[in-house]
Amino acid sequence: MRPRLNPVPAPELLQKPVVGVLLPLPLAGAYDYKLPAGCHAARGALVSAPLGNREVLGAVWGAAEGAVGDNRLKIAEPLEGAPSLPPKLCDFIDWVAEYTLNPPGAILAMALRSRGAFEPEARRIAYVRGTATPPRMSAGRARALEVAGDGLARSVTGLAEDANVSPAVVRGLIQAGALVPTELPEFLPYPAPDASFAAPSLNEDQAVAARALRDAAELRKFSAHLLDGVTGSGKTEVYFEAVAEALRQDKQVLILLPEIALTVQFLDRFAARFGVRPTEWHSDLSQKERRRAYRAVMRGEARVVVGARSSLFLPFPELGLVIVDEEHEQAFKQQDGAIYHARDMAVVRARIEDCPVILASATPSLESFVNATSGRYTHLRLSMRHGVAEMPQVKLIDLRHERDAPGVEHKAQWLSPPLRDALDKVLAAGEQAMLFLNRRGYAPLTLCEACGHKFTCPHCSAWLVEHKYKRRLACHQCGFELPMPSTCPQCSQTGTLIPCGPGVERVAEEFAAFFPAARYSIASSDILHGPAETQAAIRAFAKREIDVLIGTQIVAKGHHFPQLTLVGVVDADLGGSDGDLRARERTFQLLHQVSGRAGRAEKPGLVLLQTRNPQDAVMQALARGDRDGFYEQERGFREAAQSPPFGRLAALVISGYDGEAVRGIARVLGKAAPAARDVKVWGPTPAFYALLRGQTRERLLVQAARGVDVQAYLKAWLKLVKVPASVRVTVDVDPVSFF
Ligand SMILES: [Zn+2]
Ligand SMILES: [Zn+2]
Repeated sequence: MRPRLNPVPAPELLQKPVVGVLLPLPLAGAYDYKLPAGCHAARGALVSAPLGNREVLGAVWGAAEGAVGDNRLKIAEPLEGAPSLPPKLCDFIDWVAEYTLNPPGAILAMALRSRGAFEPEARRIAYVRGTATPPRMSAGRARALEVAGDGLARSVTGLAEDANVSPAVVRGLIQAGALVPTELPEFLPYPAPDASFAAPSLNEDQAVAARALRDAAELRKFSAHLLDGVTGSGKTEVYFEAVAEALRQDKQVLILLPEIALTVQFLDRFAARFGVRPTEWHSDLSQKERRRAYRAVMRGEARVVVGARSSLFLPFPELGLVIVDEEHEQAFKQQDGAIYHARDMAVVRARIEDCPVILASATPSLESFVNATSGRYTHLRLSMRHGVAEMPQVKLIDLRHERDAPGVEHKAQWLSPPLRDALDKVLAAGEQAMLFLNRRGYAPLTLCEACGHKFTCPHCSAWLVEHKYKRRLACHQCGFELPMPSTCPQCSQTGTLIPCGPGVERVAEEFAAFFPAARYSIASSDILHGPAETQAAIRAFAKREIDVLIGTQIVAKGHHFPQLTLVGVVDADLGGSDGDLRARERTFQLLHQVSGRAGRAEKPGLVLLQTRNPQDAVMQALARGDRDGFYEQERGFREAAQSPPFGRLAALVISGYDGEAVRGIARVLGKAAPAARDVKVWGPTPAFYALLRGQTRERLLVQAARGVDVQAYLKAWLKLVKVPASVRVTVDVDPVSFF
């Protein structure tokens, strides 16, 4: 923000309009400011407002409260040349704040998160052919002038490259006046996607769904659609038809993806359909790229934006369609700062913008499934795989029986004989296999066999995970690391530390022992393996440079490997018993997604799930391919327990570095919970991570019937307890996990 001088208010200014200005800070609400003389500003107009001894970018939010006398008000200066925030975005910010119980300024901060986007645009200097002829001509100079003869403006290096001369040659021509400077805008405009660039060929299922979505986009009214298609059914091609229609209607489109890692592949698919890549928005962009994207969205130049959850708060002036792909993904839930669920808020934004929203998934969240089957959303199903591909066959391996016999010399710990047989066949046939284990590193726990000492993080209630290749123990919660010790810190003995349980690295080690000739890589979204390493492994697998990919959930979704015919799930029971109401749903979704990687082209796929609970409902549903049966059963459980979406939940997490103070406030809050009809309060209890990054954490859980105004209940409750500055109380409405 450039500093501005506050003009001294002239007496007549005191009669001028006073407005409420919302600042992007976690304050209670809008503050009253005066506008300069003769100035009027509507809701959403951006202003520079003095706060203490600094200037803050804020937005005019509404009428003034009037509690402070006009003569004591400071002046908010409208930002010259900057467009306003669209009024519907302001409404959306208010709605999200009210629903999540965050101060509206904290939500506004998410909408203004592009430093410098409101500054006047910088200009670039470039050069064009001038009228002067240089006194001395050389072959290089002649070439440069010939290239410049096309009239395009180029930078010194740009022209040097195009003419294949050194920059010194170009600078000589500038000095001689043969090239003259001109100004270019700071950013190139985004090329517009072409709705009819490459029409797709759709199968019958796809065509029916695409028609429904096109009609919705054409209608330009709020409507919600669940695009529910089996893995490999071509959901993207279908919703691209709605995107095309929105573009024809001159509307902007927002496509939300759960992870940046998935955007790379997506951008190319988009370009194949629409001729150009869409505008990207996520945390990996540089400040400059963010600034370019933000401005283009605000000015309506960016027609289609693909982004992570934060793109929900971009200032689209003409939003006409919102799409949430992989809508069941937990990554849509923002867990720090202002807590919100981007999928749910996407539906809200579409309602406020009065435009359609499409939720797409092969394994919808139970919430969306219930909304679709009860008729609140239209339910568009794609039950066939695209092209000739068939759904893979899923078989269970009962680990209680399928073990190597005790006498076998080379005994496997993680890869059972039937899984190894299947791997043998696939490798002999020259096809590809994937081994999946949702656990990073080598071993989740290191234990001293002499004294029983377990290595835990000093800052978190979590075990340190061994990473063998990097020879380190690491905390996956806070990133704490230490070199792999050789001696036990408790009993000082050497050679007594043993790894317990498998991580992907350990499975890879065993795989390599059994299949020494096979080419394999590990793909793990890891703090110790960077995203580049993971992407390289996935690319190598796609190009068939390796035979087997051994990975965590990073390999589970979005990828298309035509030669992959076998998926082995090393431990299908993982994550099924953590006592959280969504554990079954999540296990099913993850394993179903992983299974969906197999057999996506001509060759049929086989999925082997290693389990100790073959009778479990999740395993049975996966083996039978009975997805809807699983959802119906899960719906029954939730309905009986009055759990979401049949009841409402909200969590309070009390945290801080002073453990006593945290537990004290948690107890006081627990006792203060008002009695209300159809509301139950559970706790306080230590959170799943009772210690996280050095902070003690306690939880309270509110369970309420669906008709209860949970926000009003929480507000009334929180007013009753004074919380000291050393303790933080975080509200999580509709929690999706219980960490
Ligand atoms: Zn830690
Ligand atoms: Zn020991």
